[in-house]
Amino acid sequence: MNIDTSKYIKELSEVLKETANIVVMSHSNPDGDAIGSVIGLAQFLKRISDASVTMVSPDSLPGFLRWMKGAEEIICFDQNPGSVVKHIQEADLIVCADFNDYSRLGGLEKYVEESRARKVLIDHHPDPAISATVMISESSFSSTAELVFKLASDAVPGIISDITFSEAIFTGIMTDTGNFNFGSFDGDTLRIIAQLLDNGLRKEYITEKIYNNFSASRIRLMGFALNERMVVMPTFHTAYIYLSRSDLDRYNFKQADSEGFVNMPLTIDGIVFSVLFLERGDHIKLSLRSRSNFPVNRFSSKYFSGGGHINAAGGKSPVSLAETLEYFESLLPLFSEELKDAYIKTV
Ligand code: 5GP
Ligand code: MN
Repeated sequence: MNIDTSKYIKELSEVLKETANIVVMSHSNPDGDAIGSVIGLAQFLKRISDASVTMVSPDSLPGFLRWMKGAEEIICFDQNPGSVVKHIQEADLIVCADFNDYSRLGGLEKYVEESRARKVLIDHHPDPAISATVMISESSFSSTAELVFKLASDAVPGIISDITFSEAIFTGIMTDTGNFNFGSFDGDTLRIIAQLLDNGLRKEYITEKIYNNFSASRIRLMGFALNERMVVMPTFHTAYIYLSRSDLDRYNFKQADSEGFVNMPLTIDGIVFSVLFLERGDHIKLSLRSRSNFPVNRFSSKYFSGGGHINAAGGKSPVSLAETLEYFESLLPLFSEELKDAYIKTV
């Protein structure tokens, strides 16, 4: 996506003039775009400001992102709560990357909301619920990482030769587009990828780390989920997968082991709406995906306290897994026409 970044760069340099301590943070259960954007932004801010830059995450990084250059410097709230809170309290600028609603901060929202620091928002989700001094909210971008690249490379043209920056940006774009498979990537996105490759980016290494880095038990869980826990409802062009706590324990579930499962039912002919239900602690976590124009973000914000993009959203349910599934199935008839219309638009 091509945009004029001059206004954003000007606003950012204005706030940086009065800034000594910056905290860059992203959302809970961070994905490749969250961590890629945080690392990319930190590298960029260090180039254009003398302020100290601290990277923070509400949760520890999943195994498939720990190899990233710069990842070891991210302070995680679940491991070091005292240090994270102290940095937020001392910050005079908080940069929020890849989220636009404080409810996504998994326990950190209280400290961020209480903080008197000015805020910069840089994100690609629709309908921001945060009002920041600098609002860089562009929902047509494939990923926050692509937006960070556009901003940073317009402000500091040489930044592409910073390997930490370039690998972080590539990781964010690659993961948020499902390895260049879906989402709103376009020619401009691929021209960024081309520039990164021309600069010698370690493409094979990164792909190995992200996609060929799973445990055997994760692959077995995938087989089990597809064989035993997938419900296909052709009438509603919908399929869902559910995994209970004991299913997850049986396969030694680790954070992010279910990454990508929700996309699989969408490859079934006729299916345009897919949901993954995971039993987690005291709630059920939902991942929702769709094809064409069925808006899973609206569906999730209305019924499952969530949100996200039109074709990719998350949500949660406070009741049991069985009750959640029953409730979900009871909603489908209300969307019969919309789902049919979404299906017709795919063929
Ligand atoms: P995932 O299914 O991978 O957790 O999330 C898919 C998309 O929805 C991502 O863009 C993510 O940022 C967003 N998302 C996930 N969970 C939530 C949520 O609870 N609330 C909101 N507003 N967005 C979410
Ligand atoms: Mn993203």
